[in-house]
Amino acid sequence: MTEKLKGIAGSMFAGKTEMLLKEISRAEYAGKKVQVFKPAIDTRWEAGSISSHSGGSHEATPVNNSYEIIEYLNPDTYMVAIDEIQFFDAGIIDVVRFLLEEDIRVIFAGLSLDFRAEPFGPMPELLALCDDIDRPTAICNQNIDGQICGEEATRTQRLINGRPANYDDPIVLIGASQEYQARCPNHHKVPGKPQPKIK
Ligand SMILES: [Zn+2]
Repeated sequence: MTEKLKGIAGSMFAGKTEMLLKEISRAEYAGKKVQVFKPAIDTRWEAGSISSHSGGSHEATPVNNSYEIIEYLNPDTYMVAIDEIQFFDAGIIDVVRFLLEEDIRVIFAGLSLDFRAEPFGPMPELLALCDDIDRPTAICNQNIDGQICGEEATRTQRLINGRPANYDDPIVLIGASQEYQARCPNHHKVPGKPQPKIK
């Protein structure tokens, strides 16, 4: 890639990590050194790697905060790849700007919106700084009379015991079954979400 900062942003199940893995393998095939980081909070997969839903994987360094990326940085690194960047603290903005100043390319993948369809953590500022952005979408799997909707899904639906989660539901719910699904804007439901304020 010729651009210096590239973002991959979308909903869950859009294939963001798979796109990130493709960029990593392209750079490595070209003989460039790539370092991959992820927030330690992301425990879905093995601790020392990132994996896509379709089976690809690459080793990754879990970090507890954004500044650890600088601590772990090797002098010959050509590109830094960061997965699940929406979970990072606000310091990630300066860390990314520092890497760019050092002439290191940066590519990241993250959720642009949380389950409430509100901007996720540092994503708005990161996306504003990007030279290029990929916006992969998933497929809406809302069931309509036995068939799935099938429209492009840009949002992540949170379900608790099979029903749309309320705007104010706590992130951790003891004893409830919880899952996330991809939804188009029409089928994304957030009961209790405040309406936009116009005056
Ligand atoms: Zn839909």
